[in-house]
Amino acid sequence: MQKLSVVLVEDEPGDAGLIQYSLKFSKGDHEVHWFTSLEELNTHLRATTSAPDVILLDLNLPDSSGLDTISRCKAMARGIPIVVLTGHDDMDFSLKALETGAQDYLIKNNVEADALLRAMRYAMERHQLERRLKESEELMTAAIEGGGLGIWEWNLKTDACYTSERLRKNVGFNVDDDTAPQTLSEWMTRTHPDDTDAIDEALKRHVKGEEKRYESEYRLKHKQGHWVWVFESGHLVSRDAEGNPERMVGILQDISSRKEMEEQLRTLAMRDPLTGLFNRRSFMETMDSEYGRVKRRNDYYTSILVLDIDHFKHVNDIYGHAAGDDILKTFANTIDDNLRENDVFGRLGGEEFAILLPDTDQSGSAHVAEKVRAAVEAMRVQAEGETIRITTSVGIAMLSANDKRPDGALARADAALYRVKQNGRNRVEQAKSSADTPIASE
Ligand code: GH3
Ligand code: MG
Ligand code: MG
Repeated sequence: MQKLSVVLVEDEPGDAGLIQYSLKFSKGDHEVHWFTSLEELNTHLRATTSAPDVILLDLNLPDSSGLDTISRCKAMARGIPIVVLTGHDDMDFSLKALETGAQDYLIKNNVEADALLRAMRYAMERHQLERRLKESEELMTAAIEGGGLGIWEWNLKTDACYTSERLRKNVGFNVDDDTAPQTLSEWMTRTHPDDTDAIDEALKRHVKGEEKRYESEYRLKHKQGHWVWVFESGHLVSRDAEGNPERMVGILQDISSRKEMEEQLRTLAMRDPLTGLFNRRSFMETMDSEYGRVKRRNDYYTSILVLDIDHFKHVNDIYGHAAGDDILKTFANTIDDNLRENDVFGRLGGEEFAILLPDTDQSGSAHVAEKVRAAVEAMRVQAEGETIRITTSVGIAMLSANDKRPDGALARADAALYRVKQNGRNRVEQAKSSADTPIASE
């Protein structure tokens, strides 16, 4: 074991002698520096280059007395563990000494050599642990603050909910704002109505032990009224004697910017980059859900239009591909201007488009188809110094509960479109009936 450097601060020569005598007979190697006042200790600490390992401190000195001696000694001997030497066997006082920052205490008239040494070693060990704990707490706090993590603690019995400053700040409450929610029920009134069931469910699953951790992503109302997306995670830390859940702790993080990016990615994945219309996949998804509605309700009609630009290859050949792209964009905008908000307009590929007309029957869809066809015919696009005109052919079909597949109507509309192409283009044609399925739908 390393040589222990001990500083003894004791003004009673008798007591000091006793301690030094005890130490002499203890196992282990050590050196003792003796001082009789805080002043002397201070001078020594300032002068020495090697800090002592431990300070044995009498509380009643010529220049200081009581618990104050501990705080003052601690201030000058920053980082050195202190063992208090007290004259009396007073439990309360000893506890206070520990609270004030001493690592341990010894009753003076009862000091045995080995006990003293043990106390000193123990004090040093404890002190080191405390320092490491403090360091790790500081590290944790820095990580939590840096990561924008808010912390909460929820008492399931009283419903009280402690929240950290950071958490409240995430939703617009300042430190001294006493209108911030104090219970989980109050917090729940600030969560988005569409999200509360999922939160309840996740909490229940965790408390029942079905999930190791409680986790959810939901929207919290900011003090200024807008919604903030948050990620929350936590777990149960205690149950009462009967096994009922008592206390949960967890973190909460603002994930608005991540959600925004996810939303942008979702939009990108759904859209055709050239025209901004729905792409084939997302158009088909919409058709799937409309097909479901048509199957469930026999008083509900939905139509679909399939459009294909006439002789578009020719347009590309004459004016070039870039002009062709411009035409596709103008075509999309022109048609979009003629549709209702609920209509779903998609680019199925190349110069083929489709429009889903929810809640629209046969005559309604024929009306829209003709309007769209005429709008395209009237459309003019300037390219390569010329005015380009195009036309489009349109096939119409109704979604039908008799279809085995959601895209059955698409096949019928395609068949109708094919007939238009054969009969001169730039016209509108209805699919004959739901049985008119020239392209196998199974
Ligand atoms: P039809 O009246 O029978 O439909 O004749 P069409 O020439 O339009 O038909 P076809 O299917 O033979 O040709 C489609 C052309 O559309 C071929 C291709 O050059 C053009 N096209 C497809 N996608 C794009 C695109 O993204 N940009 C451009 N500029 N042209 C495209
Ligand atoms: Mg075409
Ligand atoms: Mg084509």
